[in-house]
Amino acid sequence: MSDNILEEVFVKRSQQKKKTSPLNYKERLFVLTQEKIAYYDYDADKGKKKGLKGSVDIEKIKCVELVQPEPNAPQERKYAFQVIYDEGPLYIFAKTEDVRSVWIKKLKELVRFNKDLMQKYHPCFWVDGVWLCCHQEVKQAMGCKVLDTKNGFKSGTSSRRQSRKPLPPTPIEEKASRPLPPQPPEPPASSSSMTVIAEYNYTPLSAQDLELRKDEEYTILEKSDLNWWRARDKYGKEGYIPSNYVVEAENGLERFDWYCKNMNRSQAEQLLKSENKDGGFLVRDSSKAGKYTVSLFTKAGGDTGGSCKHYNICTAAQGQFYLAEKHYFNTIPELINYHQHNAAGMVSRLKYIVSNRAQPPSTAGLGYGVWEIDPRYLTFIKELGTGQFGVVKYGKWQGQHDVAIKMIKEGSMSEEEFIDEAKIMMKLRHENLVQLYGVCTKQRPIYIVTEFLANGCLLTYLKEGLKQHPTAVQLLEMCKDVSEGMAYLESQQYIHRDLAARNCLVDANGTVKVTDFGLSRYVLDDEYTSSAGSKFPVRWSPPEVLLYSKFSSKSDIWAYGVLMWEVYTLGRLPYERLSNTEIGEQVPRGLRLYRPQLANEKVYNIMSSCWHEKAEERPNFQELALTVQDLLYELQ
Ligand code: ADP
Ligand code: MG
Repeated sequence: MSDNILEEVFVKRSQQKKKTSPLNYKERLFVLTQEKIAYYDYDADKGKKKGLKGSVDIEKIKCVELVQPEPNAPQERKYAFQVIYDEGPLYIFAKTEDVRSVWIKKLKELVRFNKDLMQKYHPCFWVDGVWLCCHQEVKQAMGCKVLDTKNGFKSGTSSRRQSRKPLPPTPIEEKASRPLPPQPPEPPASSSSMTVIAEYNYTPLSAQDLELRKDEEYTILEKSDLNWWRARDKYGKEGYIPSNYVVEAENGLERFDWYCKNMNRSQAEQLLKSENKDGGFLVRDSSKAGKYTVSLFTKAGGDTGGSCKHYNICTAAQGQFYLAEKHYFNTIPELINYHQHNAAGMVSRLKYIVSNRAQPPSTAGLGYGVWEIDPRYLTFIKELGTGQFGVVKYGKWQGQHDVAIKMIKEGSMSEEEFIDEAKIMMKLRHENLVQLYGVCTKQRPIYIVTEFLANGCLLTYLKEGLKQHPTAVQLLEMCKDVSEGMAYLESQQYIHRDLAARNCLVDANGTVKVTDFGLSRYVLDDEYTSSAGSKFPVRWSPPEVLLYSKFSSKSDIWAYGVLMWEVYTLGRLPYERLSNTEIGEQVPRGLRLYRPQLANEKVYNIMSSCWHEKAEERPNFQELALTVQDLLYELQ
């Protein structure tokens, strides 16, 4: 069936309801769709699917992870994974490591926005009334290991933070209008409260904030706001901290400077080359989910500019790690430590840590609960451009934080409505969305203060900013960035309404972020808001918008297809020979954009799928993001 994402025959362990019932293992045909993982009785001789034996709803899944094989496990039970949902773990055994990792990756992608994703799990089996890992005897006992391969979605760059702290799927609108739930009682400072380590320094932005010092430990007291957690430092001082500046203690690699979580291959190469140190290295996520890659820069080999080598960190059958030659280590830090002293098969030893930690990520707003910004703390440095609402400037907040400031020309925006909306927009936080920091509304003109992105507008970047001819990976990575930002907006039921390359920005690392979401609703300019107006984004609009002004996430999808086309034509104007009026007539009659030279069939198929006449036949952003990502895996 076309909507089956994956199908595979696995061995399934019975879900032993009673402690006394014997365990058994049966071959089942597993079928994964967007909604369910279902398993069927299976006739191995005829290769035929028989009756449905059971299924788990994707939305009920709380964790998908590997399971350590039992000691002396037979060959057919070496590659186990677990799908945890209300009824406990479902244990599945794949025939090979590869099949297992494909399934785990897909499942993690599908569950990434689930509520109740677990932060801890049991890495070993539950057998005969005991967890083999921690020897607890209650099946519901909380996991004993913090997930280090992250629950939920993990991709080369963007969604990592989100995957660690999954967002509840509640629509933002609803959240904002409801009063906050009663504060949970403060947990006593016991071993059960969560301890985190600061990955970055954080200087309080508001009086309620708590200072963070890199590498120090903090106790988390309250998490009722997703972005700002209440924490206590070791001196007993309490306050709010940006949740994306800390990582759970003992949680894998984040505390090591050499680990660059938000980095893909081309960004790693760019960073290593700019450092230009022989033996400069970093560790990043591999394009294979759950795996890591060491990227190493070397000046050896005669190439004047130096070159980058990428080594996958491999996992041996018993779970140890190794690199080029088979020197095994129990943990990745031990492995890195060894290779800092020994090349052992690589072009050089790992001599210098190259880190992207210099730049802390953006916080949601400038301090807890702050969305009104005092304009006296803003300094204006230079003009960036002029847009629909007037001039946009680059500046600093409190003399040190980079910001972009939109100075809203009077009469260009319905300000009251926007100010209400801004509170909701402040809560939207994703690595591929330009963060709104706050607004200055006590004066005229009002200002909108956002994250600053050094490489400016994507459209200009495509036309002029790419220093060399872009690679296939670079182009697709831009599309991937946008698809992930949009998948997040879609999950929050937020419609962009004006997605196009001109409304995306590029940061210093080349990551693309979507901006100006929802803003078009507050524009006071008929030329822009009426579909017959000269500034209406006709070239990015599907038939139902041109004909009936029907906006939806599916009209955003159409625009996304056009944006992909802009990327692959390096910023050409869509339907360049036609006027808006001609487009308004011909697109509803079936006119579509041609295949750009740089786009192969697969890429063109993706953009074309966004231009389905019927909105409901178009993919959604979550699916799109997965398709784009799959194609990226193929390229790398
Ligand atoms: P508007 O949305 O009001 O029409 P734009 O967002 O297009 O205005 O901004 C005008 C120009 O200012 C953009 O083309 C871009 O070059 C620059 N710009 C806007 N916001 C930022 C930002 N956050 N970081 C860097 N440059 C920006
Ligand atoms: Mg804009």
